Amino acid sequence: MRTLFIALGLASISASAQLARHVAPEVTEQLYLHERFLSDDELGGRLPGSEGGAAAAEYIQNTFRQLGLQPLFDERFTQDVKIPDAAKVSPATNALVIGKDSVRLTAAYWPSSLSSNGNVAAKLAWAQYGTAADLAALPKGSIAVLVRDLPKDVAAKAGKAAGLSARIAAAVKAGASGIIVLAPVNGTPRLDLLRRTRPVGVPVVEVHDVKWAKRIAKSAKKGKTANLATEVIAQQITAPNVGAWLDRGKPRTIVIGAHYDHVGLGAWGSRKPELAGQVHNGADDNASGTSALLTLAKILAKVPSLGDANLAFVAFTGEESGLLGSKEFVETIPAPLGRISTMLNLDMVGRLNRSDSLRVYGTHSATEFRQMLETVPADGFYWDLRDEVFGRSDHAPFIQKGIPAVFFFTGLHEDYHAPSDDLDKIDLEGMAAVTEAAAIFIQLLANSAPPTFNPDSLEK
Ligand SMILES: [Zn+2]
Repeated sequence: MRTLFIALGLASISASAQLARHVAPEVTEQLYLHERFLSDDELGGRLPGSEGGAAAAEYIQNTFRQLGLQPLFDERFTQDVKIPDAAKVSPATNALVIGKDSVRLTAAYWPSSLSSNGNVAAKLAWAQYGTAADLAALPKGSIAVLVRDLPKDVAAKAGKAAGLSARIAAAVKAGASGIIVLAPVNGTPRLDLLRRTRPVGVPVVEVHDVKWAKRIAKSAKKGKTANLATEVIAQQITAPNVGAWLDRGKPRTIVIGAHYDHVGLGAWGSRKPELAGQVHNGADDNASGTSALLTLAKILAKVPSLGDANLAFVAFTGEESGLLGSKEFVETIPAPLGRISTMLNLDMVGRLNRSDSLRVYGTHSATEFRQMLETVPADGFYWDLRDEVFGRSDHAPFIQKGIPAVFFFTGLHEDYHAPSDDLDKIDLEGMAAVTEAAAIFIQLLANSAPPTFNPDSLEK
């Protein structure tokens, strides 16, 4: 990673000349130091619950402490958040036996994320694709066997009912006591980690072994008896939100947030599942926003004119698992913060060089945002202000709670959620321009009346 940076240093000098940016060198330097630490291979992709995830949290906490900021959560800088992990599925409590033959867990079949835990012994019944017509004659109490992949014409005819979960729900409604989905895969199948289950009330398994899929189809047509037992034990880990507070004794607080978690080695959440096992460094997603957050904390801790606002700096965990850290935060806002008047979210701000425009989502969530942002000088970029919320990052739970929030974003790219999201592709000068614009925006917010929430911005 370090050798790559030498090349980057040269590249960013020429980029800065081109764009004629005037960012302060100490801002770029700060951002680089944070980026280098957070996106290093040593941190292993900052997976919540991993050593690298914990090292990132500790680094963020130490940075806040060194800046002389106060802990945000009572006496602590951290708030525990529960995050789902791969479920436990044991061969001792999971079984699929047809006649006298045991089908092997993992090698040939695996519980579905729709499975409930249970144990049934019943006749197999052939339900073809599990469409309404196929299920009309399903014997009540039988174990329905259906094929996952629909031929095009069948899918077109079934419309919305063609989805696998819809067909499974229909089979349960038709009286199935268990469901076997035939989903043969040539080669090694990727087994669902079952981090999130949506149990439908009966055991549901997927058979991926080609030979077994054929055998089970035959057995179902003959109405053979089977035993099906499933037990999926949900697991969770805890990882911290890390938050600091610049307490100025004011009645309201502006929250600046960025998620610091990423997808580790890509066991889940990778856009390149075939590269699972490689470190997904997430230099842009979201070491960039976290570095900007820490740099903003340093800049703003020294600014004398912050009007009538306190500032809170929050590095969220669990974003990649469904905004879990920011959801937990908005549900348990620490009382001393008073009213949260605005939230600024920084997620993926390291690729300004891609388009030279800084996208801002959620500008409709307060009536004043658009005008305010237009007065913030853009150093070598254009503002790309968008009304829509774009619900896939940590500002969304704030808007859902009626708190005006905006999301700074430099856009998606081919390295998104891939092992190639590395430091050498980060536009540091661009990040510095984003960070400086954010610092000005925060000061503007702090010195203006609290923005007015626009309920029309809530996504229905
Ligand atoms: Zn992400």
